[in-house]
Amino acid sequence: MAIVRSESIVLRRRDLRETSLLATFFTRNFGKITGELKGIRADAKKFASKVEIFSLNDIIFYQSSRSSVHLVSHCDEKDNFTALRHDIAKAAAAQLICELVDMLMPPEDANTAVYDWTLEALRHLSTLGHADKLMTVFKIKMLTLSGFKPYLDSCVCCDSKMPDQPRFSMSMGGLLCPRCAGKDPSARAIFRGTIATILHIEKNDLKNNMNLGMNPQIKKELELVLNGFLNFHLGRDLKAQRSINKLDAAGAL
Ligand SMILES: [Zn+2]
Repeated sequence: MAIVRSESIVLRRRDLRETSLLATFFTRNFGKITGELKGIRADAKKFASKVEIFSLNDIIFYQSSRSSVHLVSHCDEKDNFTALRHDIAKAAAAQLICELVDMLMPPEDANTAVYDWTLEALRHLSTLGHADKLMTVFKIKMLTLSGFKPYLDSCVCCDSKMPDQPRFSMSMGGLLCPRCAGKDPSARAIFRGTIATILHIEKNDLKNNMNLGMNPQIKKELELVLNGFLNFHLGRDLKAQRSINKLDAAGAL
């Protein structure tokens, strides 16, 4: 049983027995792991962190080869992202970031590109905001970095080049040309501008993407396509997205 250390982001947590906590950490060095923090609820000072969702911590844990739950011996908070916790729109976006990483990343498979991207997104949200646009950019980049990228270069079926009246198929994971459209009757028409925006975001860094202008029509379609695509591939809608939609409908965002 090796003792290892890594920087990590708390993706999820739940109480375990009377005094302990079970947390899902996205670690930089070991990918997503589940850790048990014994006694933390009996003695709040036992760990130098409250292990709150989307906080950044240095953790030391005993890497078990027999169990998927590892014993965490130290958890020191590096950044609690306090600014995110005092703003309803930012807190909801940070929760969505954590839920999406949790859903898309397999356990115990290090992916520093996804880790660095997640941390950069949380830092941006905390210091600069723009929660709405950041969520759109985050979803597109996460799909690309985690290998779920929609196929937008040509028809997913016959590979003919960018069709004139493209349709987007959730189930086939990409564009269909008019000749192949019958293969998925539920495929929806999609603006060329929406496709170009996704391709631009896939290729650019956060700073460039946050400066990208999006007209309201494209922004709306992007959300529909991205959320539909994620729901289809994850098998359920994101809880954090439901909360965001409710806040939005209530005019709270
Ligand atoms: Zn085709």
